[in-house]
Amino acid sequence: MTDALFYQVAVQSPLRRLFDYLPPREASAVLQPGVRVAVPFGKREVCGIVVAHTCSSDYPINKLKPIGAVLDSTSLLPPVLFDVLLWAARYYQHPLGDVLASALPTTLRKGGSLPQQSFWRLSHHGKGLPNDALRRAPSQQALLQLLQQHGSLSREALTAAGISAATVRSLKNKELIESFSTTQSGQGFDLDGELDILAETPLSLSVDQQAALEQIEFHNYRSYLIDGETGSGKTEVYLQAIASVLRHSRQALVLIPEINLSPQTLARFRARFNCPIALIHSGLSERQRLEAWWAAASGSAGIIIGTRSAAFVPMQAPGIIIVDEEHDSSFKQQEGFRYSARDVAVMRANRENIPLVLGSATPSLESLYNCEQQRYRHLSIKGRHGGAKQAAWQLVDIRHSQLNTGFSQSVIEAIKTQLSEGNQILVFLNRRGFAPTLMCHDCGWVADCKHCDAHLTVHTNRPGLHCHHCESRQALPANCPHCASEQLNYLGQGTERSESTLQALFPEATVHRVDRDSTGSKRAMEELLEQINKNEPCILVGTQMLAKGHHFPAVTLVVVLDADTSLFSTDFRALEKMGQLITQVAGRAGRGAKPGVVMIQSHHCEHPVFELLSQHSYGKFAQHLLQERQFSAMPPYSNAALIRAEFHQGGEALGLMQRARDYLEGQMPSSPALRYLGPFPAAMEKRNGRYRYQLTLIATERRSLHLLLRGLSHWLERDKSARKLRWSIDVDPQDTI
Ligand code: ADP
Ligand code: ZN
Ligand code: ZN
Repeated sequence: MTDALFYQVAVQSPLRRLFDYLPPREASAVLQPGVRVAVPFGKREVCGIVVAHTCSSDYPINKLKPIGAVLDSTSLLPPVLFDVLLWAARYYQHPLGDVLASALPTTLRKGGSLPQQSFWRLSHHGKGLPNDALRRAPSQQALLQLLQQHGSLSREALTAAGISAATVRSLKNKELIESFSTTQSGQGFDLDGELDILAETPLSLSVDQQAALEQIEFHNYRSYLIDGETGSGKTEVYLQAIASVLRHSRQALVLIPEINLSPQTLARFRARFNCPIALIHSGLSERQRLEAWWAAASGSAGIIIGTRSAAFVPMQAPGIIIVDEEHDSSFKQQEGFRYSARDVAVMRANRENIPLVLGSATPSLESLYNCEQQRYRHLSIKGRHGGAKQAAWQLVDIRHSQLNTGFSQSVIEAIKTQLSEGNQILVFLNRRGFAPTLMCHDCGWVADCKHCDAHLTVHTNRPGLHCHHCESRQALPANCPHCASEQLNYLGQGTERSESTLQALFPEATVHRVDRDSTGSKRAMEELLEQINKNEPCILVGTQMLAKGHHFPAVTLVVVLDADTSLFSTDFRALEKMGQLITQVAGRAGRGAKPGVVMIQSHHCEHPVFELLSQHSYGKFAQHLLQERQFSAMPPYSNAALIRAEFHQGGEALGLMQRARDYLEGQMPSSPALRYLGPFPAAMEKRNGRYRYQLTLIATERRSLHLLLRGLSHWLERDKSARKLRWSIDVDPQDTI
C-alpha cells in the first residue's frame, strides 16, 4: 500500500515509546502533531496526543486500531512549544506522554474541551423585527437594539450593558433571541490604543538598573543573569522590560518559586499594568487553572505569572521569559518528570528566539558558571533602594558558651535591645516542630520512625511524635516504652521550642512562628504577613519560609541559630544552599530606614565560607565554591545523573542498581571523563517502608551521558525485576549525589 498512513500517538503511560494507530474511520485531513485524539488503549479509551504520522509501522496492520474521535481541529500546543516538550522528554529521559500532559490542564488532559462562553444573538424570527418593535418595553427594546448593532454579545457583556437576566429571559421566551456557546477567541490583550499599557508611571531607574535594561535585546534569544541583592531593584527592571514587550503586543512569562509569594508580586504587577494577568500555581481549582491556561494560550493575558509548571504553558505571542529567584531549588521537580523549570525556560526562550532573564540575589553556581562561559550575560545591580544600608554581620562563637535552649547570651541581649527600640527581630531555624529527638534519660531509648531511618520529631502544638519523612504520627508516650522510665528528654530544638523559649524570655513581646505547620492555609500565611507588616515590635521565628521574597521593613536584627548543619553534609550542594539561605535571610534585615544586624551562631566561625559571606560577598563566596567544584570536577564543571531504585526489600533494589552499573560499564567503561559512584544506600536508606539505593554518573561530556542514559532507560524498561520496583532517572539532580 503506497498511501498507507499511520499515526504515532503519545499516551500517558510509564513506557518510553509511542503507539501506532490507523487514521480515524471518518475521513479527515492529515492530523497535525499536538492534536488530541481519543484512542483505544488496552481495554480503555484514553486521550492521546498525535506526535507524527508515518508511512510504515513496525506492527502488522491488522493488529492496529483506528483512532477514535479527533478532539481538536488544530494543536493546542504551538509548534515551538511542542518541540521544547520533545526535547524535554529526551533530555530528562521521561515518557513523552507524561511530558506532553504536563503542558495541559487536567481537564484537557482527560479529553475535555476549552472553556466555553455563552453568547446571545437574534433568532431568525428576531432578525425580521423592525428597529423599534419593542418600544413599549424599554429594557427589551434596549436588548434588541444592542443585538442589532453587535450581532452577538456574551452574557457578561450584556450584564455590563445593564441588561438584566429577566429581560434576556423574556426575549428568549418570545423566541426572538437564542444562545450559543463558543470557545472565547484569542482577543489579544491589545488595549485599542486608547489606554496606555501602563497604569502608573514607572520609577526612574538607577544607573545600574538602566544599564541592565539597556543590555536586554528584545528581538532575539539571549540569556541574562540579573544579579543584585534583595531590594536592589531587580523587580523594577523586570517590570520595565515587560512594558517594552507588551508595547509590541507580545506576552511575558514570569516564573517564581513555589511559595506564598504570589499575592505580593501580583499586587505589584497589577498596579503597574493595564493588561490582564494570568496566574498559574498549584493552589488553583481545576476550572481556574483551565481559564488561566487559556488566557495565556489564546493571548488574552499579556502577563503570565506562574510557578514551575508554567514553564510549559502555551503562549500566543511570547516576548520574554523571566525567572525570578532562579537559584531556588523548587524550580526542579523532585518526582515523576524531574525537570528544571529554569533550564526548560532557557531552552524555550532559545527556540522562541526571545530574551530570558534570570534574577537572584544569590545566583546558582550553574548560572554564574554560564556567565563565565559567556553563555549568559551578567548584569549586576549594586546597592539598595531607599538608602537602606547593608546589614552588619556578626559571627557568634558558641563553643564553650552556655546556651539557653539554643540561644547564646549575646543574642538574647541583642534581641532585648532591639525590642526596647521598637524593632522587629527575625530568628531563623530550619527545623520544624519542638525537638528533633525524644530520648530516655535512663536507658537511652530514642523514638524512631518504624518506616524510615529517622528519629521522630516532637511536636507540642498538635502534640505528638511526627515523622518528617513519611508523615506518620503517633502519640507522645508518657513513659519510655523500653524501661518505663518517666525521664524522657527532648534533645535539640525546632521552631516550636524556640518560640516558647523566646516567649518565656520576653513575656511582653509578641512572637510569631512562621513554618509549614503555622501557615497551613494560604489565608493563615496572609494573616500572618498582615500582622507583621503593621511593623509593630515583635519576634518572628521560622524556617526558610522567612527567607523568601517577603518584605519585612521593620526587621533590624536577623539571628541564624544554627549555621553548622550544612558544613558537614554529604550533599555537595549543601554549602551553596546554606550560603544562599543565610544571604537571603540576612537580606531581610534593615530594608526600611533602620540599619540591620545579622548574628550567626556557629561552632566553626573560622570556616572560610562565613568569612566570605560576612564580607557581604555572596559573589566571592560563590567563586570559592566554584573553585572547589572545578577541583573535584563536580557540576557545573561536569554533568550528573542519579539513578534511584527503591523496594520494600532492600536486596532487590541494590541488586538492580548493581546490574545497572554492570550494564553501563559494558556500554562505556569508567574513566576520568565518566565516573560511576555507587550503588550506595541513599542518605536515608529506608524511607516510608522502602529501601533506597542510588547510582551516580558524572560525565564531562553531556552528549555521551545522554546516550548512556537513553540506553539505560530502555534496559530498565525491559528488565523483569525492574518492573516490580520503583526506579527513576534524575538528570541534573538537585539533592544528594
Ligand atoms: P528586588 O526585586 O531586587 O528585591 P525591588 O525591585 O523589589 O528589588 O525594589 C526594592 C524597593 O526599592 C521597592 O520598594 C521598589 O519600589 C524600590 N525601587 C526599586 N527601583 C527603584 C528606583 N529606580 N527608584 C526608586 N525606588 C526603587
Ligand atoms: Zn528507657
Ligand atoms: Zn517515617
